[in-house]
Amino acid sequence: MTISIQGVSVSHGVAIGSVHIIQHDQLDVYEYKIHKSQINDEISRFNDAVASARQQLRAIRDHIPASTSVDISAFIDTHLLMLEDITLAEEPKRTIKERLCNAEWALKLQRDALVNVFNEMADSYLSTRRDDVDHVVNRILRALLKQKPLLHEIPDSHLKNRIIVADDLTPADTVLMQHYGIAAFATEYGGPTSHTAILARSLGIPAVVGLHNAQCFIKNDDLVIIDGSTGVVLVDPDKLTIAFYEKKQLGEKRYYSSLGKLKNVPTATEDGIAVTLTANIELPKDFESVRDVGAKGVGLYRTEFLYMNRETSPDEEEHLEAYVNVLKILRGLPLTIRTLDLGADKQVDGAGNQTGPIRSNPALGLRAIRLCLKETELFRTQLRAILRASAYGSVRIMIPMLTNIQELQQVLQMLVDLKAELDNQSKAYDPDIKIGGMIEVPAAAICAHIFAKKLDFLSIGTNDLIQYTMAIDRVNDEVNYLYDPLHPAVLRLIHMTIKAGEEANIPVSMCGEMAGDKEHTQLLLALGLREFSVHTASLLEIKKIIAHTNTSKWIPLTKKILNAATGAEVNLLLQQMNTPPA
Ligand code: PEP
Ligand code: MG
Repeated sequence: MTISIQGVSVSHGVAIGSVHIIQHDQLDVYEYKIHKSQINDEISRFNDAVASARQQLRAIRDHIPASTSVDISAFIDTHLLMLEDITLAEEPKRTIKERLCNAEWALKLQRDALVNVFNEMADSYLSTRRDDVDHVVNRILRALLKQKPLLHEIPDSHLKNRIIVADDLTPADTVLMQHYGIAAFATEYGGPTSHTAILARSLGIPAVVGLHNAQCFIKNDDLVIIDGSTGVVLVDPDKLTIAFYEKKQLGEKRYYSSLGKLKNVPTATEDGIAVTLTANIELPKDFESVRDVGAKGVGLYRTEFLYMNRETSPDEEEHLEAYVNVLKILRGLPLTIRTLDLGADKQVDGAGNQTGPIRSNPALGLRAIRLCLKETELFRTQLRAILRASAYGSVRIMIPMLTNIQELQQVLQMLVDLKAELDNQSKAYDPDIKIGGMIEVPAAAICAHIFAKKLDFLSIGTNDLIQYTMAIDRVNDEVNYLYDPLHPAVLRLIHMTIKAGEEANIPVSMCGEMAGDKEHTQLLLALGLREFSVHTASLLEIKKIIAHTNTSKWIPLTKKILNAATGAEVNLLLQQMNTPPA
């Protein structure tokens, strides 16, 4: 009998194959007492296990394929650093001495203490750190318990084309999986913002996460189908189901490769309106794909990834080097650098760490431009580097999460001062560098006409605009049902922003996920949007829809949509737009 399990889709693609289960967390650890005379031996056993874990991680790092994003070694470095940390490497030894217990138990106690601290923090980034603690602890435990081999100890041939099912996967595992030619993975835990999910997308591995209790239904060597775009996992599928998904897999492959022919075709609607398509980029590796899909530049470079998985924040030279490298890859295409957007669900070790009490509404707290205007040194460093990078290519600055005009005035003044500073130091920059603002707070959308007078361009960040308009946390599963891009309030705010740009004669782009959802393309065009910034994987698909859109035809229907009372009503009207003519 076929069992269907619904998870959270993380990385698209269909995979059909046999399962290889990895059980990271099922390590049974018991306490036993040791004699005083055994303390030194027990401590040596612990030290050896830590050394073995360190050796394994270094071996993994040395096997990262050259073509893989540099961030991956940073993930492994984080685990190596944790192994050196006193809380993991030293505290258990103290427990062994004081409690006269075995090394496994001492480590487990320390792990529990650390995890309890993380559990008390309702923050999705910090839960990722809790996962990191577990990954590192389990690696040491395995060495202590002489447990069965981990992924990197299994022969490559055994894993090729197999589907990995695990409670959770470390970023290090994910790198190896790509190296070994694994077909897909499915995990019980993790969310779309976990390191592993980010890497799956960046490495192009179909993946589903959040499949709670999946291992009650899936056994080693079972045949399963993973549909990365719907988040469905089918166990023991019958012949008809397999045939269906083989067809879907082939269809998807053919569809995506057929889109390649659109790469060099100018982007325009059926009624001849020119549209600009740019790319959203997170990881340095992704920049290569910008030219591959014919994007007209980068509309959103999320620079916070430069700050992640490290102890200190990057200095000016490091920022500069990163931006100049990217400009080299882009060979003349414009690069929109979004200034640091840390805070809320994006926390890092080295920069802008928020001290003081744990805030209960981090998404409404000190994040993005708010944090930058508080931590001005951090912000100045990045702004100086961006200005200096502008001497090497076409660079634009984009400010996230503006709420009021005073924030913008402060940024503009900082830029005036920094330009004067660079002049004094005879350092080159583009004196006409364009400054844009993200419209992602309802207050900014309502006042978009004021922002538009002071900025060179606007970009609508729908991920946050929807979160703040609907008053829901975008990473909270329980209120996800309210996350509705088609809510009339959201559509009106988008429309107001586009109109404000038109009146001020400045370009308005959209860089939130809504811009890359093909169901919304025609509506956004009819609302007047002329620039879309999307992931490179969806760019050509959006281009295709744009080419089939007759914008003027949809103006009357769009008026009705803007006057609709509910998202459901909007949906019905939208179906008329999206149904291909018979
Ligand atoms: C957005 O909010 O739509 C956006 C593009 O920014 P981020 O997703 O990085 O918050
Ligand atoms: Mg945002």
